[in-house]
Amino acid sequence: MSEIDEVKQKTDIVDVIGQSVTLTKSGRNFRALCPFHSETAPSFYVFPERQSWHCFGACNTGGDVFTFVMKQQGIEFGEALRLLAERTGVILPTRVVPDARKDERERLYQVNAAAATYFHEQLVSSPGAARARDYLLRRGFTSETAAAFQLGYGPNSWEALKQHLTEIGYSEKELLDGGLLVENDDGSTRDRFRNRLMFPIHDARSHTTGFGARVLDDSLPKYTNSPQTLVFDKSGTLYAIDLAAPSIRKQDRTVLVEGYMDVITAHQNGFTNVVASMGTSITERQVTTLKKLSRNIILALDADAAGKEAMRRCVDYENTLDTEVQVMLLPSGNDPDDVIQENPTTWRDLVEQAVPVLDYAFGMASTGLDFTRASDKSRVTDELLPLIARIKDSIRRDHYLTKLAILTGIRYNVLETAMQDRVVKSEPRKASRKSDAKPTTAILSRPVEEQCLSLLLQHPELKDYSEELLPEYFQNSQNREIFVTWKQSADLESLKERLDPAMWEQVDSLVSQELFTDKLEQRFPDYVRRLREDYHREIKSKEKESNIDLTRLQEQGLDSNTQLLEIFNQKARTNRSARDGSGTNT
Ligand SMILES: [Zn+2]
Repeated sequence: MSEIDEVKQKTDIVDVIGQSVTLTKSGRNFRALCPFHSETAPSFYVFPERQSWHCFGACNTGGDVFTFVMKQQGIEFGEALRLLAERTGVILPTRVVPDARKDERERLYQVNAAAATYFHEQLVSSPGAARARDYLLRRGFTSETAAAFQLGYGPNSWEALKQHLTEIGYSEKELLDGGLLVENDDGSTRDRFRNRLMFPIHDARSHTTGFGARVLDDSLPKYTNSPQTLVFDKSGTLYAIDLAAPSIRKQDRTVLVEGYMDVITAHQNGFTNVVASMGTSITERQVTTLKKLSRNIILALDADAAGKEAMRRCVDYENTLDTEVQVMLLPSGNDPDDVIQENPTTWRDLVEQAVPVLDYAFGMASTGLDFTRASDKSRVTDELLPLIARIKDSIRRDHYLTKLAILTGIRYNVLETAMQDRVVKSEPRKASRKSDAKPTTAILSRPVEEQCLSLLLQHPELKDYSEELLPEYFQNSQNREIFVTWKQSADLESLKERLDPAMWEQVDSLVSQELFTDKLEQRFPDYVRRLREDYHREIKSKEKESNIDLTRLQEQGLDSNTQLLEIFNQKARTNRSARDGSGTNT
């Protein structure tokens, strides 16, 4: 079994989808409002036995767990594979070829580091930076702090940085690629950060990846960042992670804030386990980075800002981290910066008073409600039950269900049933799925699928005839990925280059399969036809299993996808003959 198959076998699609989608049990399967299109009645189904999903609504598409993760997170197959591999503890082969873009990346770190040095020198000694220095003084930052964070000043010029960096040997293209220049309409370039206070951003290994920049007057936006580059991706970045990492490890605790200023003030006051997310929401990648340092995360939230969405996400982080996320509440309208500047002891106390995110949610949801009233009971239950149901750890889930029972006076077993009716009960993975006979058919690939793909790889001339072969005909996502990539590749070599190394073994095996190669012009269309028929049969049987009302969906104005229409028509015919038979025909 290949590593990919192993990942697939160790992954339960219900667990993965259930983490972000509220699934309701429907016979042997689960259904939900489709996460990929907006709808009011659920047409999204998950089939545990087949380990697949399908949206019978506007998307009319489906696939296996890889397809879901790809679509949901907008990532490539290789990334989805690595994500799920990490989840399941399967070690994938790493790239044996040297990373083609490694040098390029290295060069972008260097150009950004050179820019940071230049900006810092400007801040320290340039007459033009007087205002920036004043600003930092007013904020109470010492010169040691400015040096530690390598704060800088981007001169009020269209090309000061460009001139400096090209003089010391960087090309204009490198500056552009590094996000330091902006291209004008006429193709010329100018400095991106002008008259700004500069915050260099580093990754965990202290590479300079980009910048945050703040205006020195009242103009908006107050802050800008480097654009997305080969080395800078906001969603994976944590400000000051390189400086904070030792403390986070030592204290076994991270405090997560939102702003650069918050972090700097915290560090200057000795709270060196503080980092900032680059925006209001925290991403999975940031959580993954933090997890390597400590599993204890405290979110510093403004009492007003902590929303429901934040709660929902927190439970997801907890599931990913296998721990509790805690919330520390700042006095309404206060930044961490304000709190610490006013009195560092308050900050220390607030950190100590942090509460598990769900306890906080309980407080929020029940404020102002009267639990002698049925309507208020429903309200708080509606709000909290979905959160509780998302908790993976059964002991913690039970803890909060009990808490809800005590709070509302609703009997525990009533709540438990309500929860089970609404959502997937996510037992810890190891314990729950053992008894389920999970057929391997969805994992292992069918011979006809492999033969067809093998034929394509061995006979490039068939590419012209492959128009009718659709990616979704491949049930095995590895084969599907190889097929899709092959369509975009000129030859085998470039196919492999584009594919994740974890798939090379499969390509090699497909290429070396012995095939009948006579009458290719008949054989190939025949494979395609068989795959198409299998695909339609699969959809129909899923449709039957899910018992979905396709007529209703059709009335909602579905797109004219032919396959679905075919099912509609057939369904309509069945309905008609059923009515005719029962004599209620009008
Ligand atoms: Zn959909």
